[in-house]
Amino acid sequence: MTWTTQEWLAFDREHLWHPYTSMLNPLPCYPMVSAQGVCLKLADGRELVDGTGSWWCAIHGYNHPRLNQALHEQSAKMSHVMFGGVAHEPAAKLAKYLVDLTPEPLQHVFLADSGSISVEVAIKMALQYWVSQGQPQRKRLLTIRGGYHGDTFACMSVCDPVNGMHHLFQGILPQHLFAPRPKTRFHEAWNPEDISEFRRLLDTHQTEIAAVIVEPIVQGAGGMWFYSPQYLREVRKLCDEYNILLIFDEIATGFGRTGKLFATHHGDVCPDIMCLGKALTGGYMTLAVTLATQKVAYGISQGQAPMLMHGPTFMGNPLACAVACASIETLLASAWQERVKGLERIMREELMPARDYPKVADVRVLGAIGVLELHEAVNMAAVQAQLVDLGVWIRPFGKLVYITPAYVMDEADLRHLTTAMKQVCQ
Ligand SMILES: *Cc1c(COP(=O)(O)O)cnc(C)c1O
Repeated sequence: MTWTTQEWLAFDREHLWHPYTSMLNPLPCYPMVSAQGVCLKLADGRELVDGTGSWWCAIHGYNHPRLNQALHEQSAKMSHVMFGGVAHEPAAKLAKYLVDLTPEPLQHVFLADSGSISVEVAIKMALQYWVSQGQPQRKRLLTIRGGYHGDTFACMSVCDPVNGMHHLFQGILPQHLFAPRPKTRFHEAWNPEDISEFRRLLDTHQTEIAAVIVEPIVQGAGGMWFYSPQYLREVRKLCDEYNILLIFDEIATGFGRTGKLFATHHGDVCPDIMCLGKALTGGYMTLAVTLATQKVAYGISQGQAPMLMHGPTFMGNPLACAVACASIETLLASAWQERVKGLERIMREELMPARDYPKVADVRVLGAIGVLELHEAVNMAAVQAQLVDLGVWIRPFGKLVYITPAYVMDEADLRHLTTAMKQVCQ
């Protein structure tokens, strides 16, 4: 079949759902034909500097020789095999890397097929743990406002109740508990008051809570908010005190994005369960993991519900595991810490002056994340078109114009991005 770009684009518009858009009046889509390094190429030949990393994922840039090679080699051996009753080296090797790199108590690895599923599995682990422990009444989750944990139902139920669309699914979503968003910013001095409502909720509902779930340090799609490491330490302390499981959703923050390999390292604390995804495969394939401590894994298995009841068709997909191993090896062999620090320094220098723009409410930079928060929501279609005209690919949402570039981006490309951001926010 041969058809022109205009023809397949028109078909797309009529027949394909895209994320969070209308079928009747969809936001425009840009036809992309290839990607190389930090650049995306449009069908008309224009090249855009990519500020998104395809939603935090493509940390090494696109079309990376080492990651390509891992996929080619694995596809010649075994692209897929069921994981029920089967073991294979790519999965074992990936699990070994993750067990070695994450905090020591996290020893048990569940391979999930997307971030949302890894959160579902994390929640299921917590609920099953308490069934096994003879406390099935512990069914509720405690979280903080402004969170984002994915789009499936258990995930949605712990997303921010306002911008997480809870009103659409009233009576369907379980009712969980929400503490206020932490006020103390990442670099600010800790205000002990900040944890008081969280503590009060934990205390009031202690016998019905199964787990606390939060995104450590950086709340991503829920508002790009960076909070104090002390908040994490306080949460850990309280979960210990009340014997409640703690889940960290590191799907966006994992693999160096915040300047540490994992955001949990900023607080020097360890969760009982941790989710990873997004950059896990360097942006090549969908794959996520849920890691658990021995307490959780054995706690489930020693009780009355001894098998964790989950097993997706594509669990442990060898292609995805092989490319994830190659991505981790590439990351660890690189000077990623200096690179992320360098990106942070330039973004700070470039973006902080935008604080004085009348339209800009706040500027935030942490690691390889740069955010301009506006007073008003942007007109997405118009701003996107403007950004493309400026030669960059940045995807604003709501009041936020932000970038999460590949760690390999050079200074000139990064300044191109920040200049475009400032231009559309002026
Ligand atoms: C993206 C994201 C998810 C969902 O991952 P998917 O792969 O889109 O299902 C969950 N939690 C956080 C923090 C995320 O950033």
